[in-house]
Amino acid sequence: MNSAYVYLQLYRLFDENTPLSVDCGKLCNSACCGGDDSGMLLFPGEKQVYTLINPTNMRIEDTDLAYRYNNKEYKTPILFCDGHCDRYIRPLACRIFPLTPVLDDNGQIEIITDPRAKSICPLAKTLYIDEYDENFVKSVKKAFTLLNKNKHVHAFMVEYTKYIKDFLKFFE
Ligand code: SF4
Ligand code: SF4
Repeated sequence: MNSAYVYLQLYRLFDENTPLSVDCGKLCNSACCGGDDSGMLLFPGEKQVYTLINPTNMRIEDTDLAYRYNNKEYKTPILFCDGHCDRYIRPLACRIFPLTPVLDDNGQIEIITDPRAKSICPLAKTLYIDEYDENFVKSVKKAFTLLNKNKHVHAFMVEYTKYIKDFLKFFE
């Protein structure tokens, strides 16, 4: 799979579709682009996009979030930026923030507010999922429903769902 091509196509879903129909960055001075050391996880194969475009103000490291696929262990990469980017090259995690996908009990994609966002994002603190822009939520669901059809991505999603659910415990 040419995963860079797949992600570049998926990115386009979010060129126009954003969490609200207004610029939510004005609510919080773009708190999610703080340029601190928090970083954004890259989904399986997404690293190829950044290998291709090689942005000078971003760096990628491996995290401890590991998963197995085809008897091989993979570590989930994380991208760090300096708090500024060309919005057309921002990674998928930035485009879907403050939402995130998890697997439901049937292994299908469900979209939820990302519990990691609740400490920084005013939308994540206050909105229910049906209060976000409808097309934005639909785009997140579409992107991950497509990605989850890939067995490698699905293997990642199994571990990622456990990872997110560990954070959810703090908000129950
Ligand atoms: S922190 Fe939330 S409200 Fe602020 S720019 Fe990011 S997504 Fe929008
Ligand atoms: S990559 Fe871009 S959108 Fe994502 S946190 Fe950094 S500056 Fe913000």
